[in-house]
This record gives sequence, C-alpha cells and structure tokens, in this order.
Amino acid sequence: MAAEAERARAERVAANLAAVRRRVAAACAAAGRAEDEVTLVAVTKTYPASDVRILTKLGIMDVGENRDQEAAAKAAECADLPLIWHFVGQLQTNKARSVVRYADVVHSVDRVRLARELGLRARAAGRELRCLVQVNLDPESAAGVLGPRGGADPRDVLAVADAIHAEEGLAVGGVMAVAPRGGDPAEAFDRLAAVAAQVRARYPQATAVSAGMSGDLEAAIERGATHLRIGAALLGDRAANVG
Ligand SMILES: *Cc1c(COP(=O)(O)O)cnc(C)c1O
Repeated sequence: MAAEAERARAERVAANLAAVRRRVAAACAAAGRAEDEVTLVAVTKTYPASDVRILTKLGIMDVGENRDQEAAAKAAECADLPLIWHFVGQLQTNKARSVVRYADVVHSVDRVRLARELGLRARAAGRELRCLVQVNLDPESAAGVLGPRGGADPRDVLAVADAIHAEEGLAVGGVMAVAPRGGDPAEAFDRLAAVAAQVRARYPQATAVSAGMSGDLEAAIERGATHLRIGAALLGDRAANVG
C-alpha cells in the first residue's frame, strides 16, 4: 500500500477505535462498571494483516477471527506481534488441529466432541487454550437443533464445560453468545448472564462473558460482558469490503 493510503487507513481506524472507546466508556459509566473489566477483541475477518498491525499500534492486542483458513494465514503473517488470538466462529471438529496452533482463546466450543478434539490436538501441539462455551440464545433453534450461529443449548452448557475441564491443556474460561437477530439483545444477554453464573458456580475461574458486537455492545456491557467482539465499528462495513 502506498504510504499515503496507509496513513489514511491508520487515521480511519484510529478514529473508529476512539468512537468505540467512547461508547464503551459511556456504557461502563451507565452500568457502574470499571472500563478495565471489559476487553475489546477486534474481529479482523475479511480485513488484511496490515489492519491488525494498525490496531496493535493503537494498543489492541486481542484479535478475533471466525474462519480457520483466514485466521491461520493472518496469524502467520503477524507472528512477530505479541497478539492474543481469539477464535470466535463456528468450528468443525476437523479444523481443531489447525486452530490450536495459533488460537489462545476459543470462544465457540459448543459440544463435548469438539472439546475432546481440541484437548487432543492442543496436547499434541504443546499448547494451552482457554475455551469458552458458546451458548445458543435463539429459542427458535433451541432443543438440539443447531442454530445458524451455533452454540450449545443452555441445558447442555455445563456438560460442555465439564468436557473442557476434563482435558489437560484446556481451561474453562467462561461463556460466549451472539444475540439472536431481531430479538431484544438485553433480554438475550440476561439469559446468558444466568448461564454464566451457573458455569462460574462450578468453575470459579470461568469469569469470561463474551457478548456484544458493533450493534449491541451497550446492552452487553449493561448485562455483564467482559469481552466485546467488535468488527465493523472498528474496521468498516464488511459488505463494502469485497476482497
Ligand atoms: C463477525 C463477528 C463479530 C463482529 O461483528 P460486528 O458486527 O462486525 O462487530 C462478533 N462475533 C462473531 C462470532 C463474529 O463472527
């Protein structure tokens, strides 16, 4: 990229980040929470490694991706940076071997079999991973039918947490969810908070509540989110980012 375009991009991302930080600060103030309770995970999917570098210069070290192939390549390109890689997308069991090589946190563990496979592959790679149980908050797709966005039925979450805990190399980190499209995110995040409390009662160190995206971060902070997964508000609308 030409130096001028690079500078313009860095300025754009810096302005976006400042706006997101203002939203986070306002939501934390409204909820009576400290800002340092909330970690911003920049979801960089569809955006290049050069944007990851821009983000690190602005102090963002937590980076999220939702597809293994893209994530693996980007992590390799950024191997010189002290990043924490978060895998946030639906994960096929056969991708576990690749994901454990670069991911530090997997937000989308939603079934016992996936926990077992991640454990096996993490040990083989000599890596340790923090795993969150993804909770399906969409009642339309509950009762065993995997929703379009994945996630364990709330009734199965403890079993998945137990399966993570049973694997040497994996630690139960908490829970994650995506608010159902079209619903009230505050109501959905309330249900997530209840599930998070159940998991924490059994695994006190499992304090992470990964909730809140560009459109609903305020509701998530109000309902106790510790990790926000923010893409579009930082890097731009992905629909306009073809290629
Ligand atoms: C893309 C994605 C995000 C970020 O969404 P934005 O609306 O761009 O902030 C968060 N979580 C998951 C699981 C995603 O796939």
